[in-house]
Amino acid sequence: MRICLDPGHSGPVEPGACAAGFTEAALNLAIAFQAGGQLAAKGYDVIYTRSGDIDTDGLEFRAVIANEIKADLFISIHCNAAASAEAYGVETYHYPNSAEGRRLAGCIQRELAALNYTRDRGVKENGNLAVLRLTDMPAALVECGFITSEHDRAVLVTDEGQQRIAQAIVSVTRNLFPLTGETDKSYNINRQQPPKKINSLFQKHPFGNISL
Ligand SMILES: [Zn+2]
Repeated sequence: MRICLDPGHSGPVEPGACAAGFTEAALNLAIAFQAGGQLAAKGYDVIYTRSGDIDTDGLEFRAVIANEIKADLFISIHCNAAASAEAYGVETYHYPNSAEGRRLAGCIQRELAALNYTRDRGVKENGNLAVLRLTDMPAALVECGFITSEHDRAVLVTDEGQQRIAQAIVSVTRNLFPLTGETDKSYNINRQQPPKKINSLFQKHPFGNISL
């Protein structure tokens, strides 16, 4: 079972949101490594779209990696930001009309909301996110919390907080794609669902390089 984890943003070239001396790129990577480490320990084949800082602000390569390795599942890990420090909460995105994506996003959102570390902002669809548009396996993008919120940041920047978030992602993965034993029917993705159509992997899209 092959899981592709996508730590959002790149590093110094494109750090994502920044607040209080923290960069989203670094937090995303830390959470992804926590989740990937736990999954690998369980016997999953884990592939990261990046394992450190990289010199690109492109997004398409992340989907290309996932597609080329024929990942069974793709999870993009991000932290949110807002002009107002009052905004906080967790939310998860899927590609519109992707039943598998909707189910995956719903499971991730449910697990993270159940941790009660922040507000449940719900599951949302978005057709402009390249990593969701171009991947041809169940895919979701989770915004684990707001880096600009003191409340969320207290969780996002700590090893313990990152571990809890990672454990929720691992729990969803293990329930959706168990290596052994019975599948929990409440999580069961309909594998008969055809993959969403990919017209052109490298097509120019007006929002192709949008930064979350
Ligand atoms: Zn982001």
